[in-house]
Amino acid sequence: MAKQNKESRCSFCHSGKHETLMLIEGMDAFICDKCVTQANQLLAQELGTKNTKNIQTAISLLKPLEIKQHLDQYVIGQDDAKKVLSVAVYNHYKRLNQKIDKDEIEIEKSNIMLVGETGTGKTLLAKTIAKILHVPFCICDATVLTEAGYVGEDVESILTRLLQAADYDVAAAERGIVYIDEVDKVARKSDNPSITRDVSGEGVQQALLKILEGTVVNVPPQGGRKHPDQKMIPVNTNNILFICGGAFDGIERKIANRLRTQAVGYKVKKDEAVLDLKNLYKYITPQDLKSFGLIPELIGRIPVLSHLNPLDKESLRNILTAPKNSLIKQYIKLFAYEDVNLVFEDDVLDFIVDKAMEYKLGARGLRSICEAIMLDAMFDTPTQTDVKELHINLDYAIEKFEKADFKKLQAA
Ligand code: ADP
Repeated sequence: MAKQNKESRCSFCHSGKHETLMLIEGMDAFICDKCVTQANQLLAQELGTKNTKNIQTAISLLKPLEIKQHLDQYVIGQDDAKKVLSVAVYNHYKRLNQKIDKDEIEIEKSNIMLVGETGTGKTLLAKTIAKILHVPFCICDATVLTEAGYVGEDVESILTRLLQAADYDVAAAERGIVYIDEVDKVARKSDNPSITRDVSGEGVQQALLKILEGTVVNVPPQGGRKHPDQKMIPVNTNNILFICGGAFDGIERKIANRLRTQAVGYKVKKDEAVLDLKNLYKYITPQDLKSFGLIPELIGRIPVLSHLNPLDKESLRNILTAPKNSLIKQYIKLFAYEDVNLVFEDDVLDFIVDKAMEYKLGARGLRSICEAIMLDAMFDTPTQTDVKELHINLDYAIEKFEKADFKKLQAA
């Protein structure tokens, strides 16, 4: 047994006890916390490379139709986006498999842009895709990203998150999916008087460009600039699939303008000129993203563009009950743990949807409305052991909803 005394040092890096957080004693040696972490990363990297082949075969088994069928179980509607996403993901992983034979024609990477109002399912789609494919997945918010040197997070932090999601298995992370939310917030605003905002937006776009197109980035494993002496991990972004999402508020006007100009310029036939004015997102083109303020180089790196439709009453009603883990199913399960059979009457579901529409809360609001209605029942039921059945009817729902803080819901 090694003697742990004042001179005890790590047998790998020779750090003294006082330089480490922890020095673990073995039969004839010591190892410090830093070396344990590094060894762990090495191991993950080595094992990850060996596992990659298995991941590839699993992925290649799923055809676009099957990917869409999986998505249908969790995401309501949004058929266009689902189809585009299924094909893009399928092609992306086909491209990964093909890269093994070097003489193949190189298929371009198919990063994806999803445009649609907030709360219509963009994040849910990306999350569900990653779950189906069993690849590491992370969500980042473009609003916190800044150009290197400014206050905020460097673009590399996106990859730190992906590495963390992959448990530092670099090979797995290099095949992962990253969802970048609110990418519209880094748009260049040419008519914005604030010059600083303008520069930072474009700087972030330039930085994003680099990682989206595929390059080797040195990633700080713990993220941030707080640990300046941490060992960087090189990550190749060539095979990472980036899905960007944004609401692009106001882009409808740009789409409408373009369509109007086209209609005049090309004298479109009467029947062709009938546009769905309630959902102009469906006519979106890369040109509109450029007018909104995304730089053309970045748009070029995100070749797949799709839209999400605004959610109508019927979709909201379906979201409440249909998905595999729908809200209503979740409440029923929660009460089943207390041996209580929970039943929602049909008009309660309509009431929840109506309120979500009335307060313009979208799908995100369904949950807060349900919580308002169910809070008292969730509080009382665990102590009322004689209750075996709970029917939520309209009167009960209205009473509880009105008791809740309306203004708070509106702000949600
Ligand atoms: P976005 O990223 O478009 O802002 P999210 O995907 O985060 O919106 O959606 C917020 C929540 O609303 C999700 O967690 C989900 O419960 C629900 N939701 C939104 N759209 C759908 C949909 N099309 N199908 C099922 N649930 C949805």
